[in-house]
Amino acid sequence: CCQDLIQESTNTRLNQGHPCFSTGRHQKAGRIHLAVAPACNISCNYCVRKFDCANESRPGVTSKVLKPEEALQRVIEAKQSSMGQYLNVVGIAGPGDPLANPSTFKTLELVKEHFPELILCLSTNGLLLPEKIDDLVRIGVSHLTVTINAIDKATASAIYSYIRWKEHTYIGFDAAHILLQNQLEGVKLASQEGLTVKVNTVVIPGLNDAGIPDLAREVKRRGADLLNLMPLIPQAKFAHRVPPSHEQIQELRKQVAPILPQMTHCQQCRADAIGLV
Ligand code: SF4
Ligand code: SF4
Repeated sequence: CCQDLIQESTNTRLNQGHPCFSTGRHQKAGRIHLAVAPACNISCNYCVRKFDCANESRPGVTSKVLKPEEALQRVIEAKQSSMGQYLNVVGIAGPGDPLANPSTFKTLELVKEHFPELILCLSTNGLLLPEKIDDLVRIGVSHLTVTINAIDKATASAIYSYIRWKEHTYIGFDAAHILLQNQLEGVKLASQEGLTVKVNTVVIPGLNDAGIPDLAREVKRRGADLLNLMPLIPQAKFAHRVPPSHEQIQELRKQVAPILPQMTHCQQCRADAIGLV
């Protein structure tokens, strides 16, 4: 799906073999998402919690949550299957927030131990990124996706109902403040550590669309390599909202393309997706 789509970038970090971060090798790059992370520490108003996380995944189809050993087994089977020769990326994208689940780290360690050549990637809402970045670096995660939907507190507080952080629940501007600070600090730290960083933004017309150019500039300043604008899938508290049209997304991408390379082929894969992208 991505032959012609990622915009050419001078940033060499976008060319390290991950089908979703790369401008080359698309046809021969495969990925497997391991659904080992059921818990989440924030509440996005578009999320139906029992479904896959919208960080990287299409809501609406539940995944079977795997234990770390089962996840490793899945990688072993995938390597032995007909797509094995193309499989070069193992990612953890949900169904909740990977960083909020100890299983994530155990799984990544197991995969690294058995398949040191595979690229490890992970997607997160970013709340725990500053405190977990050292673990990700130690384990050898090289590609990171952070979902950031707004960089101003007013907009963010309309998108997130609450966050759970350090054993407290925060709502409103307090929640937005902590989340935004950690997301942006996390992007900066990850970039400084040499990870390739993609920011996912769920486009919610009338709510966060006008702020997307500012968001793009801010995350670029923090070191993000790539931006992925994803159309809202209206559900949960946002079931009544109108999703952006294809044209609206195209228009926004045109606006922000001079700021950051755009990923245009994301299929909003399920947390247990497998195959070529
Ligand atoms: Fe749902 Fe993902 Fe948001 Fe958590 S971060 S509430 S799992 S969409
Ligand atoms: Fe790639 Fe998007 Fe699928 Fe993740 S959800 S593997 S970024 S196409």
